[in-house]
Amino acid sequence: MLKDTYKHKGQRNQLIQELKKLGITSPTVLKAIEHVPRHFFFPSDFSDKAYENIAFPIYEKQTISQPYTVAKQTELLDVQSGDKVLEIGTGSGYQAAILRIMGAQLHTIETVEILHQKAKLLFSKLGLNISTILGDGSLGIPELAPFDKIIITAGTPSLAKSLVSQLKIGGKLVAPVGELDVQKMILVHRIGDNEYQETSHGRFKFVPLTGTNGWSIK
Ligand code: SAM
Repeated sequence: MLKDTYKHKGQRNQLIQELKKLGITSPTVLKAIEHVPRHFFFPSDFSDKAYENIAFPIYEKQTISQPYTVAKQTELLDVQSGDKVLEIGTGSGYQAAILRIMGAQLHTIETVEILHQKAKLLFSKLGLNISTILGDGSLGIPELAPFDKIIITAGTPSLAKSLVSQLKIGGKLVAPVGELDVQKMILVHRIGDNEYQETSHGRFKFVPLTGTNGWSIK
């Protein structure tokens, strides 16, 4: 049963204070985190852990990202209401819910069928209008491009040109890029037809992006 109590709201407020101390400043990001019950996206037996600043295993060896990571990626993405956004790696659906609450027109793609199905059902129960796709997100979704923003929530070995070119000019992509055990958070800003600015924003550890442009992992 999806129940959001005063206790949960209090825990979210404490989490917000922790995220502020860690350097998250965007009022719209903090407001979205305050608004979305993270425990809805947790395995129900462990929902008491939902407001700790930790990543947590969900199903099929995948994880719901740490709240700080979600906040940092969302802040870097600079989402504006009405932005057409692609999320690669739906996972639990929590990051998608945050982006939707901020007004994104969201498309989220997941490669693991059970995660895709669970997130789709949860979005419908919560009345969140999010388009969910099952498939290999490492290719982006050329038929829906261009996007204002793209967020990859799994660690990728590199950024394929075919993916960054799915950004509109002026658009932004945020992704953890690097090795299997550690990645740099990269922000790409498309400033022209063939012009991209790249900046780096700290080290993170994500589960691997698989698929054509990801890691080949059995
Ligand atoms: N955004 C998620 C959340 O809020 O819970 C966390 C995502 S989890 C860290 C990474 C997800 O990326 C996993 O669910 C994994 O199955 C998915 N993934 C990995 N490779 C993928 C691919 N090629 N296409 C789509 N999803 C992929």
